[in-house]
Amino acid sequence: MANIGDNIPQAFPSRQNGVLRGVKVAILVVGSVALDSVETPFGKVEDALGGSATYFGVSASSFTPVKLVAAVGTDFPAKHVDLLKKHKIDTTGLEKMEGKTFRWAGVYETNMNNRRTLSTCLNVFEKFSPKIPESYQDIPYLFLANIDPDLQYDVLDKVSRRKRPKLIALDTMNLWIDIKKESLIKVLKKADILLINESEARQFAQEHNLVKAANIILAHGPKAVVIKQGEYGALYFSKTTVFSAPAYLLESVCDPTGAGDSFAGGFFGYLAKKGKLDDKTVRQAMIYGTVMGSFCCQGFSLDKLCKISQKDIQKRYKEIKELTVF
Ligand code: AMP
Repeated sequence: MANIGDNIPQAFPSRQNGVLRGVKVAILVVGSVALDSVETPFGKVEDALGGSATYFGVSASSFTPVKLVAAVGTDFPAKHVDLLKKHKIDTTGLEKMEGKTFRWAGVYETNMNNRRTLSTCLNVFEKFSPKIPESYQDIPYLFLANIDPDLQYDVLDKVSRRKRPKLIALDTMNLWIDIKKESLIKVLKKADILLINESEARQFAQEHNLVKAANIILAHGPKAVVIKQGEYGALYFSKTTVFSAPAYLLESVCDPTGAGDSFAGGFFGYLAKKGKLDDKTVRQAMIYGTVMGSFCCQGFSLDKLCKISQKDIQKRYKEIKELTVF
């Protein structure tokens, strides 16, 4: 029985000046780049920038350079691409396809833990076949953000054909558990870490108890699972470690859309930056995930996430540390 740190220590040789075995440390992310229409008790936005890869990328870019693989339609505003570039996200792999950009619409109740999806229009993602640019080869960290698990597998397979990344993590959602569970299980078998919501963990495992659900998920192959609990924090389970991160206490939440992806960006971005998977680093990464998720909730779309500085991130990290010391 080993945790991820024990299982793949050789996957994290010592890193000097951000360079791992001569390869510049970076994360390759595949996921959705979207136009979201969202309504919360605090207001609404239409066709605002969203998508799992967008939130993940902007969040992770505070820790590690990010290279994006995704598709948008001809209607995707150029200013959104500029925003990604401003965060030093490599958009060489962002394909502009004939047709419309992926769109998602959702509405939140007064209790913003409850969200209803109003519509999901795959649009260009229906015909998307991910291409990995030559300049993205041999990237040591792969994040498969929430998207059709068949596309996640396709990228994982293409990238690993040359050389398996040092660390592979993925996120998913209830839709794919409903309609593509077998495809999701196929991706899980090849990944190191799954990030999933509490309700989705229960749905996937067909088990209400979260400890049992985590063990059922681990039996499918990943070495660790992070169960996100919204305003109640997040749990980390490996075969030997359990860690509970509280949520940052916000006085007001404007729009939680993308908080899970922003958590993933902080968590995975920090792991990539440190190049280590020991227990301490994983726990710190959980707190950086919490910090980034909390910033995301403070504005619609990426409004708040785009405005924060390293100083803001460190300040909030320290506040969470103080909140939990006893
Ligand atoms: P989160 O609130 O962390 O679950 O992430 C919400 C983001 O995921 C939104 O920006 C959506 O555009 C995106 N999203 C919603 N449904 C899907 C889907 N089926 N596939 C990919 N991305 C999605």
